[in-house]
Amino acid sequence: MGQRVAGMESKSGAVMLSTPVTSLAGVGPTRAQHLGDLGVNTLGELLEYFPRTYQHETEERAINQLDPGPIQTARGKVIAVDYIATRPRPRFEATLDDGTGILACVWFNGSYLRKSIHPGLMIRVKGKVGSFKNIPQMTNPKWGAIDEAAEAITEAQFRPIYPASAKLPSEVIQKIIEPNLEAAVANIEEWFPQSLLDRRGLMPRHDAYRTIHRPSNLHQALKARRRIVYDELMLMQLGLGISKQLRDGRLTAPVLRVDKLLDQRIRGRFPFELTEAQTSAIWEILTDLQAARPMNRLLQGDVGSGKTVVALYAMLTAVANKLQAALLAPTEVLAEQHYLTLSRLLGDSGVCVELYTSRTKRESKGSLMRALSDGKVHIAVGTQALIAQDVEFANLGLVVVDEQHKLGVRQRAVLKGKGLSPHYLVMTATPIPRTLALSYFADFDLSTIDHLPPGRQPIKTRWIPSKQAATAYEFVRGQIKAGRQAYLVLPQIDDTGLDDAKSVKTEFDKLSKGPLNGLRLAMLHGRMTTEEKHATMTAFRAGTVDVLIATTVIEVGIDVANATVMVIDNAEQFGLSQLHQLRGRVGRGSELSYCILIGDPQGDIARERLTVMTQSNNGFEIAERDLQLRGPGEFFGTRQHGLPEFKLADITQEMELLQQAKDDALALLGEDPHLRQPAHAKLRAALRAMFGDTLPLAQVG
Ligand code: ADP
Ligand code: MG
Repeated sequence: MGQRVAGMESKSGAVMLSTPVTSLAGVGPTRAQHLGDLGVNTLGELLEYFPRTYQHETEERAINQLDPGPIQTARGKVIAVDYIATRPRPRFEATLDDGTGILACVWFNGSYLRKSIHPGLMIRVKGKVGSFKNIPQMTNPKWGAIDEAAEAITEAQFRPIYPASAKLPSEVIQKIIEPNLEAAVANIEEWFPQSLLDRRGLMPRHDAYRTIHRPSNLHQALKARRRIVYDELMLMQLGLGISKQLRDGRLTAPVLRVDKLLDQRIRGRFPFELTEAQTSAIWEILTDLQAARPMNRLLQGDVGSGKTVVALYAMLTAVANKLQAALLAPTEVLAEQHYLTLSRLLGDSGVCVELYTSRTKRESKGSLMRALSDGKVHIAVGTQALIAQDVEFANLGLVVVDEQHKLGVRQRAVLKGKGLSPHYLVMTATPIPRTLALSYFADFDLSTIDHLPPGRQPIKTRWIPSKQAATAYEFVRGQIKAGRQAYLVLPQIDDTGLDDAKSVKTEFDKLSKGPLNGLRLAMLHGRMTTEEKHATMTAFRAGTVDVLIATTVIEVGIDVANATVMVIDNAEQFGLSQLHQLRGRVGRGSELSYCILIGDPQGDIARERLTVMTQSNNGFEIAERDLQLRGPGEFFGTRQHGLPEFKLADITQEMELLQQAKDDALALLGEDPHLRQPAHAKLRAALRAMFGDTLPLAQVG
């Protein structure tokens, strides 16, 4: 069989990474389907189906090394057997000797063993180790006879453990990969010069692919893994670097003029002094706006740190330069909130701010659109729909995107299609941990507001189990009596009946009849119409609603200074960063604010999340913890981000390698900015394959 396949190969040329698994030795239609379920359809995908960990084939211990307690494996020659027939639990006993000591084995109801275990036999036993009369003992161990001649060959084997499915256990996956490994590895080409590999201590690429599946020891396995991770990180850094170059080199953005008088006029608009942190972020932004290449800046700062004010400064700078600015929020409710904030601050100025949402009245819509294309509107506030549709701007100079890391790439493409290349400012309250800043966001310049405006007090946070929920409601009543307002957040809108999670509608009914009876309650959730949401928010802002019972629609941006309590029920169902975002809805005024988490987390990670919340008010710390607890893919929803996910790299753990890859990528691009040198052709092809057309790499080569 093997020979026939080999013969076919030589006729049709070598097996390629794109060869479907169905034409591999040992893979029939059923296995192919099971592999397909694991996302493996080609030889290349099989090769990149990496082991999750490794195991020694045998993890035996010498008998005198056995520890009482855990399950262990030992072997020895049977030196005595006995069968004790006493009722009610007859037992079979065997004594093993391995030269270091004696191990007693007992099998209850083991009469059947009399036929198979006898003195002189070499057996392996696996079980919990106890002790009886100072002799180690295993009770009902698993056992097997040892064929010593066969063992000698495999004993040292170090076995890969693959992420398995019920239908494809790890051993089967190994059996499929093993005979195809050499043919697959033959297709792996080196990307980097030997000098680089030497400098970074990296093994050749094809060796790494072979060794990761078939290492002789853990050290080799880790070396192989390191090489493959390096390649992933390096490719990412190169892709981002090239994309940045293309943007920097080819696009021109309007050059804005800034002077002291303008600075004073803008600052004068705010009813407070800007903080030092805000001022330095503004300085960085202004430096970008005065250059002819489009700004691509991420403004990060904890909730309530004053990002919106910084963004407004930038927008007013654009307006003063006779350019339009657009402020894009993730939802209509938030767009409205921004619109109100800007209108309040700019009320008596000549700056024209308009809100563009689906609520914009049909009769006024036409004229509003015209005002935008005429340039009469200076600042347009809306959701991303504002840019996605065929809306015309007269002279768009700056786009500010709030809380939507996902938005950037696609939106920029749309604008580019319209012949526009405005400056870009993305605001985020989800602090980007350093590792992510170096990878996913290598494309952005980063400004950080690292201090809150003065006078803020930390939000007092407590976590209580659900059986004490009554105390939370009492506390809410007390605050409302004192003239404050509260939020209550729940994980879902309706009871699904599928789980125990509480819902907005059920809790609204229950609380209005029970613990919060007599208070003015309102619901806010994503299935309400925009009109209803708008009416509810307006009432809450006006103080005619005491408690807003909501889903996470209130997660970002809602700003009601009089709300001082945030109660999050079923808190164990939320992610850590999400909890922090939700908590940030309170503590916006001068009053002391509170966050009460109600939840009964199962398991250490869930408990850890709630504990972290009670210990820290610092978004950065929380984001780092979140990243550790969750892993980066989920943290950012990278899929939606349009960036590829790593197969192997866990960038929370590879800080040093990531930094090396970044340095090496920059050096390489410094030498060959567009990777056009023949020596880099393979690398360029790999980049294309990795990024597809999500980044402007089509222009490479
Ligand atoms: P973010 O967008 O970062 O969540 P905002 O810009 O909405 O923060 O600011 C949060 C609150 O703090 C707002 O009510 C805003 O008016 C206020 N604020 C912003 N900057 C300052 C400052 N320098 N001094 C005092 N209050 C400020
Ligand atoms: Mg904000």
